Amino acid sequence: MKEEKEFEISRRSFLKVTAGVAAVSGVGFPGKSFAETGKQISTLIDLSLCDGCTDRKVPACVSACKEINKDKIPQVVDPIPEPWPRKTIENWSEKREAFHRLTPYNFIYIHKAEVNIAGQNKTVFVPRRCMHCDNPACATICPFSANYKNKNGAVVIDQNLCFGGAKCRDVCPWEIPQRQSGVGIYLKVLPGLMGNGVMYKCDLCVERLAADRLPGCVEACPREALLIGSRKAIEKIAESRAAAMNGYIYGKTQNGGTSNLYVSPVPFEEINKTMSRKPGQPDMKTDVPRRMAGTDPLAKTVLAAPVLGLAAAGVASAWSWLSNRKNKSGKEE
Ligand code: SF4
Ligand code: SF4
Ligand code: SF4
Repeated sequence: MKEEKEFEISRRSFLKVTAGVAAVSGVGFPGKSFAETGKQISTLIDLSLCDGCTDRKVPACVSACKEINKDKIPQVVDPIPEPWPRKTIENWSEKREAFHRLTPYNFIYIHKAEVNIAGQNKTVFVPRRCMHCDNPACATICPFSANYKNKNGAVVIDQNLCFGGAKCRDVCPWEIPQRQSGVGIYLKVLPGLMGNGVMYKCDLCVERLAADRLPGCVEACPREALLIGSRKAIEKIAESRAAAMNGYIYGKTQNGGTSNLYVSPVPFEEINKTMSRKPGQPDMKTDVPRRMAGTDPLAKTVLAAPVLGLAAAGVASAWSWLSNRKNKSGKEE
């Protein structure tokens, strides 16, 4: 298809991606980069193309992400202060090479699903990372405003403000954010009493996007199973590919909609049967109501604790001012 062809050619240059899709589909923003326009972008993961990079020790998308984010976590203190009243310390600093799940050092992993469709065995490889939800409960609940949604759709955790309370993981339908204890500003404020580290997850490579570069995983995939483009263009491509393969789309309605779509020739219900929810290994159930909507009991719980939120926000703001952190461009107020 003309639109797809243009898109594939444009992978070589992020600026051209933007202009190319816009010109062909009439839904983008010709002549400007995503960073300049602040308009919404989406990614597409095509499971009919991903082969899990089984010929490599580490899948190309996973190792690209790892390389890009290798210096994100500072030196972990030793010993890590015991948090009170809970005693859970999450320390991945000695297990940085764990690739089988999400960790603070691994923002994307490949789930291998062995499915049986009409008597035929089939292996499906599913790259998993943050879905960059339209209404991210992880950002809504954060009492420090450390977790926020960019205008372009990327949901980002500001590690300079995060206390590692992990509320974002509790409310995320897929429990995506992962904690590393023994790092972050809680060590300087009330170690042992407040916070327990810093939360980490995929940030859609916002810094690369701002420099008109493709996210590392998108750029590295040798099979072009990952695409990025304007929201409308990606939705169109997902729909046309799903129709062509008589397949299915995931991410369009789940949790109220997301900026990350999957397209698959295998029903997601079948894929999900192979995914029991384990820490760092999200499932893929299709019925995912929007979290933190007004009717969600979680929202009521959060709204019942405004004092803590305000106090926490005050501490975070003070710390932010003291540390004279650099401005975050593109953050929605
Ligand atoms: S998938 Fe989870 S962590 Fe990612 S934006 Fe959605 S709620 Fe937040
Ligand atoms: S978008 Fe960037 S941070 Fe997210 S999984 Fe891909 S490479 Fe990693
Ligand atoms: S998405 Fe691409 S790079 Fe990642 S495992 Fe699949 S084929 Fe390999």
